[in-house]
Amino acid sequence: MQFQELVEIYEQLEKTASNLEMYTLLADFYKKVKHEEIDIITYLTLGKIASDYQSVVLGLAEKSVLKAIAKTAGISEKKVKELLHKKGDAGLVAEEVLKKKPQTLIPVGKLEVKEFYDGLHKLAKMSGSGSQDQKTNVLVSLLQKTSPTGGKYFIRIVLGTLRMGVGDMTVLNALSLAFTGDRKSKDQLEKAHNICPDVGLIAKVIAKSGVKGLEKIDVQIGRPIRMMLAQRVSDLSDVQKKMPGNVSVEGKYDGERVQAHKSKDEINLFSRRLDNITHQFPDLVEYLKKIKGEFIVEGEILAFDEKGKLLPFQTLMQRRRKHDIADYVTKIPVKLKCFELLYLDGKIFLHEEYKDRVKALEKLIGDGNSDRGIILAERIETDDLEKIEQFFQKMLKVGNEGIMIKALDGEYQAGTRGWNWIKWKKEYVKDLIDTFDLVVVGAYFGRGRRSGVYGALLCAAYDDEEDRYETVCKLGTGLTDEMLSSLPDKFSKLQVEKKPINVAVKKEMEPDVWFSPEVVVEVLAAEITKSPFHTAGYALRFPRFVRFREDKKAEQATTIDEISEV
Ligand code: ATP
Repeated sequence: MQFQELVEIYEQLEKTASNLEMYTLLADFYKKVKHEEIDIITYLTLGKIASDYQSVVLGLAEKSVLKAIAKTAGISEKKVKELLHKKGDAGLVAEEVLKKKPQTLIPVGKLEVKEFYDGLHKLAKMSGSGSQDQKTNVLVSLLQKTSPTGGKYFIRIVLGTLRMGVGDMTVLNALSLAFTGDRKSKDQLEKAHNICPDVGLIAKVIAKSGVKGLEKIDVQIGRPIRMMLAQRVSDLSDVQKKMPGNVSVEGKYDGERVQAHKSKDEINLFSRRLDNITHQFPDLVEYLKKIKGEFIVEGEILAFDEKGKLLPFQTLMQRRRKHDIADYVTKIPVKLKCFELLYLDGKIFLHEEYKDRVKALEKLIGDGNSDRGIILAERIETDDLEKIEQFFQKMLKVGNEGIMIKALDGEYQAGTRGWNWIKWKKEYVKDLIDTFDLVVVGAYFGRGRRSGVYGALLCAAYDDEEDRYETVCKLGTGLTDEMLSSLPDKFSKLQVEKKPINVAVKKEMEPDVWFSPEVVVEVLAAEITKSPFHTAGYALRFPRFVRFREDKKAEQATTIDEISEV
């Protein structure tokens, strides 16, 4: 397929006003796409060149991209930079300057989608000294074949700023529509997506083998499974209504959730966002190597000091880095508290009962292996509320967040916030209802002491049915002056000129600046009320900033349904 055909669809998508229109447009397009290219087209439409877990990084400095635009258009880099300063979007700059580019023998508008995709993958593999120049040359050779409008999308994809409001859920809706005639099969698509978060692959399977083919998609070691999540209750005694009889109670640790995959010759660690974070934890990789077998386990990474005392989450976050990793292995040692087993030596455990999964996990990890750095989560089994309460207090005393209560006969509900897991945290006891993970969609300029910086952020919950963000609060409390002054910088790359299509905001709440919905912030609230001013239909009262949740993608934010259930 020609890249130009894709560009024409993108032009139409940019103009759509409703999600439904978007699904229909994409679905009609999908019907025309060759099956061999459907995965590539899906990645590109999401603004990527591979599924996130594959961590294909282009590693392009913005400077190299601007240089490529300048070279292709035959103008100076200085001019390109000036235009960028004016327009704020390198895609628009490329579109403008390519219109005036001198004619060459290379036919314009003749770039093939596959050629573009392969070129970017080739570029991702280049490293070492001189690689930025090499990368610029590859970009030029491809860019000169696009039309000016093609250049706009080309550059946005390369810089990771496509932002058409198409997320995984939009793609699943469109695929359902394209290959089954309506959106009813989205549930089956979502089921496949939960155990295979690679929408490119899902697109290929449904296009080739229909919905039936999706059933054959199974757990694969090395490819992450979407993580199971926990429900909340408003009173600890409600646990017994949801899970009568004996339950398992585990510590709820405040670290970084990880899914560890070990095959014969490889170990991969996936974060809550399902990004590959293996390189950050060479120490954990060594510990895992010592455990025999091929497996997928889950747990929480925690940092400890030399006396074995738990270190705060913020300290652990210093391990999230690209450089000096070896130094930090000794500076901030970590251990993995394991609580799940999803696969072991050819057997998939997802649909086994929790008690059988834990039994197999205990056998695999074993007791007394704490020196290895892979340890089992503390747990008790009981039906006695008082014992649960005591265990909760014990967990808080050693610095944990609370407890997780798990149904002994529950299966692992991938990608689902089901009732097989219930969380109970210290905030619940203090009558502050809970924290919510919201997506920042805009900001208001401050007044008085806060003038010159943002005074408040506009925050939204996620509507997973429609792949849309709907507002629930204005957040100003809890942000220190220092933090407020750093926000314009933090959000500058996400600032967009108009409201993104996947954000719904009432007139009364329109912010001074809009952001592409990408940053997740944890907010503590005292109450939820119905609200005519917020598109979610609810408002959080007395919202207070807790922290930014870099470990979450926007699509993993609190959903509207979760808010309505509180
Ligand atoms: P929270 O902000 O409460 O951590 P969340 O949206 O990140 O919420 P939840 O499903 O609400 O996720 O809570 C589960 C999280 O708690 C997991 O993602 C995991 O990181 C953490 N956790 C800590 N201890 C456990 C445990 N024993 N079992 C399962 N998850 C645990």
